[in-house]
Amino acid sequence: MDYASILREIEKEINLNQTRGQVASYIPELARINPQKYGLHLACMNGDDFHLGDHTEKFSIQSISKVLSLSLAMSKLGVRLWQRVDVEPSGNPFNSLIQLEQEDGIPRNPLINSGAIVIADILVSILDNPKKDFLEFVRLLAGNDDIHFNEDVARSEQDHGYRNYALANMLKSYDNLHNDVEDVLDFYFHQCSIEMSCAELAHTFLLFANEGVICQSKKRMLTRLQTKRVNSLMQTCGFYDEAGEFSFLVGLPGKSGVGGGIVAVHPGEYSVAVWSPRLNKKGNSVLGMKTLELLTTKTGKSIF
Ligand code: GLU
Repeated sequence: MDYASILREIEKEINLNQTRGQVASYIPELARINPQKYGLHLACMNGDDFHLGDHTEKFSIQSISKVLSLSLAMSKLGVRLWQRVDVEPSGNPFNSLIQLEQEDGIPRNPLINSGAIVIADILVSILDNPKKDFLEFVRLLAGNDDIHFNEDVARSEQDHGYRNYALANMLKSYDNLHNDVEDVLDFYFHQCSIEMSCAELAHTFLLFANEGVICQSKKRMLTRLQTKRVNSLMQTCGFYDEAGEFSFLVGLPGKSGVGGGIVAVHPGEYSVAVWSPRLNKKGNSVLGMKTLELLTTKTGKSIF
């Protein structure tokens, strides 16, 4: 596959200047990001790398971190985890409260906020030093120690986190949050504040293209079954209430974040990360979705 020329074609076809959408504005740190940023990094299983634009610039990974926290919780807790969170697409916004109440405090899936807060609670319970241990897990997957929380973003998330506090308190009222709300949200806000580049994200997510084994070190982090499950959840739940649309257009498991990043995985082939901060109304990167649609259309390869 001639990925280099396909990426050149994509670069010509996308139009940064005419892209609609708004940069996330719920915290000042995200509202300040230059909307014209655009990066792509494609990391192949055979070790080849291809890229475009700002692919080494770090940005706020936000909800993309939910896949990583889920993976760590699955590796530690196994199937017991599914007693506290379901695996169905939500069809609702990522921070919806209504569904959580209707379903007695069991979040629809671990990739919406309520589900990720339950996963954060599990990690706070089982890790000795939750924030440090999680960051080390991400660094291990990335094969890179230069990955950090952004403390300003974490603090802002806390200052503006009314809905996340509401979700955590509702979970607590259903006895589906075992630790202190503040401790769990402190962990959750920090996991969302991690900054990574497209290059770092693509290499990190190669784990899910490689049946749960880190490509570089050959260390197994997830079983094949767990990897299948993470990929299935990304496929059905990775894009808020637009998971169907992403699947329809792109045909790969993936996860987006309101920082404008999207990572997608082609099992056995590659992992690809795109960053463009302008979001559509559902909170997904407009150009990120377009880019990945072009990639799977031009290569003629998706999981379907
Ligand atoms: N930190 C954000 C929140 O919890 C994450 C949003 C996202 O990327 O979906 O509201």
